[in-house]
Amino acid sequence: MSAIQNQDPAVYTAIVGEKKREAEGLELIASENYVSPAVLEALGTVFTNKYSEGYPGKRYYGGQTYTDQVESLAIERAKQLFGADHVNVQPLSGAPANIAAYFSILEPGDTVLGMDLSHGGHLTHGHPVTYIAKLFKFIRYKTTEEGSIDYDEIERMAKEHKPKLILMGYSAYSREIDYTRVKKIADSVGSLTMADIAHLAGLIAGGEMNNPVPLFDLVTTTTHKTLRGPRGGMIMCKSHLAKAVDKSVFPGFQGGPHENNIAAKAVAFGEALKPEFKEYARQIKKNAKTMENELRELGFKLMFGGTDNHLLLIDVSNKNATGKEAEIALDKAGITVNKNMIPNDPRSPMDPSGIRIGTPAMTTRGMKEAEMVKVAKWMDLAIANRTNEQELAKIKEEVKELCKGFPVPGIGNDSPINR
Ligand SMILES: *Cc1c(COP(=O)(O)O)cnc(C)c1O
Repeated sequence: MSAIQNQDPAVYTAIVGEKKREAEGLELIASENYVSPAVLEALGTVFTNKYSEGYPGKRYYGGQTYTDQVESLAIERAKQLFGADHVNVQPLSGAPANIAAYFSILEPGDTVLGMDLSHGGHLTHGHPVTYIAKLFKFIRYKTTEEGSIDYDEIERMAKEHKPKLILMGYSAYSREIDYTRVKKIADSVGSLTMADIAHLAGLIAGGEMNNPVPLFDLVTTTTHKTLRGPRGGMIMCKSHLAKAVDKSVFPGFQGGPHENNIAAKAVAFGEALKPEFKEYARQIKKNAKTMENELRELGFKLMFGGTDNHLLLIDVSNKNATGKEAEIALDKAGITVNKNMIPNDPRSPMDPSGIRIGTPAMTTRGMKEAEMVKVAKWMDLAIANRTNEQELAKIKEEVKELCKGFPVPGIGNDSPINR
């Protein structure tokens, strides 16, 4: 019997429920993934007991022999993975990493040029509901009618507004990014460059997408999306910003780092350095391409004209459904997706026109092209039968059956807690 089961049946029940949910359903949320048993193990270690404000070799409290070891390992592995000059692995998640990165180079009132949110930008890129939007002046570029990033528009806006920072990075954009072109634009107007690779980090680490780290001043990321590590954030930067970034994260913005989390980051980066991870990244893209082709065949309207990465943004309005209706129907069929705004969406964020799907989690389970074909067909069937509870329940059973053949890493059948 596990300690939790013995001591706290209420929490134990919730954990077992989540474990079952993850094992039996199909996870198509583009920002989610399943960590390895080793990453999971690192998270649940005694490193959670330790305060280690500061950085390796420069801490405020004593007793840092092993926190220094593990944090240095995480830093060195991240440097190797992305070719970074300097890395800070302490940001608690992606949003805190972005805020700390902004404050390392910006003063209140400074101008930032970032992507329009309905075109794939992230909340932390200046959405009016965030505090950040009150401090800095965000101006926005969009995608073209055909759906690619409008680099000419970026150039025009950069010349007009002379932003302190040009920001690239998205959570619902599915095309490759021309960082070289953006760096040239930034240099021509004296702007700094920042890329938020939260969604793409694993694909970049696996050599499957362009890497902005050698070019840009600042690169932020989450560690829990395609990179398949623990929930967390990270900032990479050029040497000239190293001090500013470290000071901005601590003491500027955060207190003590979560060393158990940093230990898990080190383990995940170690995994991402292995050749198998390159194969994983390649398969994520192959699976996304297969989904693209199948869904197009089934009459779905794909934004940005398709995908070069792990995700697809789909306008479901031609299927007589809203994003919210599609999300609910798919949920009942055992397929988890999220509703999402599409470019220039006439609808509202709580009930937008689209859904976003991604292949990283399914790929971690070992699913390949043949399974993607099945999933696309179920998606179409579920959305078409969104008011037919019986049909949705039938799909859910079929989904469960498929999932049995592709176990979630770290969820075994023998241990009581089944970590
Ligand atoms: C997910 C994401 C974030 C935020 O990460 P959290 O860990 O949820 O704070 C920031 N930027 C982009 C582009 C993202 O996709």
